[in-house]
Amino acid sequence: MPSTYTLHFDTPAFKGDVTIPLGLYINGEFIDPVEGGTIEVVNPATGRAITSVAAGTKADIDIAVRAAKAAYKTSWGLEVSGVQRGKLMSKLAVLMGEHIEQFAALDALANGKPYLTAYNRDNKGAIAVMEYYAGWADKITGKTIETNKNKLAYTRHEPIGVVGQIIPWNVPMFSLSLKIAPALATGNTVILKPSELTPLSALLFCTLIKEAGFPPGVINIVNGYGATAGQAISEHPHIGKVAFTGSTLTGRKIMEAAAKSNLKPVTLELGGKSPNIIFDDADLEQAVKWAIHGIYFNHGQNCSAGSRIFIQEGIYDKFLEQFTQAALAIKVGDPFDESTYQGPQVSKTQFERIMGYITSGKQDGATVHIGGERIGTEGYFIHPTIFTECKPEMKIVREEIFGPVACVMKFRTEEEALEQANDTTYGLAASVFTKDIDRAVRVAHALEAGTAWINCANQTEIALPFGGFKQSGIGRELSEYALENYTNVKAVHVNIGLKL
Ligand code: NAD
Repeated sequence: MPSTYTLHFDTPAFKGDVTIPLGLYINGEFIDPVEGGTIEVVNPATGRAITSVAAGTKADIDIAVRAAKAAYKTSWGLEVSGVQRGKLMSKLAVLMGEHIEQFAALDALANGKPYLTAYNRDNKGAIAVMEYYAGWADKITGKTIETNKNKLAYTRHEPIGVVGQIIPWNVPMFSLSLKIAPALATGNTVILKPSELTPLSALLFCTLIKEAGFPPGVINIVNGYGATAGQAISEHPHIGKVAFTGSTLTGRKIMEAAAKSNLKPVTLELGGKSPNIIFDDADLEQAVKWAIHGIYFNHGQNCSAGSRIFIQEGIYDKFLEQFTQAALAIKVGDPFDESTYQGPQVSKTQFERIMGYITSGKQDGATVHIGGERIGTEGYFIHPTIFTECKPEMKIVREEIFGPVACVMKFRTEEEALEQANDTTYGLAASVFTKDIDRAVRVAHALEAGTAWINCANQTEIALPFGGFKQSGIGRELSEYALENYTNVKAVHVNIGLKL
């Protein structure tokens, strides 16, 4: 396998060459995988291969763990001050900013998302996350706790050591940054596995790590498949923690492997089936716009997508009419065309999965109000789809589709809306639209979800925690809360003159 690959972009949104190394980034170097495996990366807009990158397996994870352990002991962890860690992270954020166009192009190419979304949302967000946690690096403190006069007692928030991180493909660089940054800020060394569907931008990121000044072994990025490299991270006895974002099914496997190996703690950011409740008194125009953003942004490939839309009966017809017109107006097409809102779904597998759900919805008796079909014959494009006549027991209402498919349902009372909204195994996010402030807050508090949006949808703030109730996950990411995932708390008792 050649060691680098140059991609030539000549698109309306981006023109230029991007050269990426193809190997595994371990101990500050790009190396070939022990077993020589590769991942073929496919352009979802065409279904054709772009290039192949190295695929790591258990043997490579072992090498990465050794490097990360050594780095932790000698040149990171408790050896380096928070001020210094923060400086390196800030430098990394600057370098990411200098390459933002290239990052956006790679994510648009491999993921199929619009270049402008990759630029303005994913990558600006990734840089902002790195900056945010750079600011935290010298503010990781414990407490002095009063106990009795013979004791000085305090807590230390110490790094865990080597942490493993496994991310999905839907927001590749944003996921990478929000995993790596709090782990580095708290003094851990990292082994991260990107998704096998979107490994390219992570490789470009690796080229900046040394330049930013990180010692070898502090950040290791190992592309690979879930069942091999991912599994090896989850079950490695010398990895002290694993953080995962992905499907609930994989989250279970990771937790099981973590429990069976060294009982390492896990944080899991999993799937969702988020409700969006629209009351009669909502600002109709705004509710329609937010509902569109809620379900169709990023082609419906959001864990927090507002995929179940509950509309009160008095506004139902009007809402459905305007929501339909707005969904029909969505421009689906080339990710590098600046007017595109929705590109292809990420892969053939995801495309077929979504089409399978659409078939199941029809078979279960729901009505395809609009869409329900593939667009064109090349690539994995799907019409924005609205199902009406949905019933709570239908698969399309119960399971996460992760595509541009909305299930619309009518309700009469607040109680009925809440009962249906909470009738799910998931609990990631939820929206409520109403001008009645009492009702807005009451409903937001009654929704069983880690995030409740009032008169908006699908919003992420770096300074606010994000994570799930129920089977949507364990732990919180972003904000100060994420730092808790990456430290061990030690209580230190200092005896002041107590004699035994
Ligand atoms: P996935 O679970 O198939 O894969 C996610 C990652 O896990 C990939 O890197 C994959 O290689 C790896 N993996 C797969 N099997 C593994 C195993 N046995 N052991 C260890 N690692 C393994 O999910 P996906 O299809 O990439 O992503 C879509 C899912 O991610 C959706 O369910 C979505 O809701 C969820 N997601 C959640 C959030 C959140 O913050 N809650 C954010 C984005 C995506």
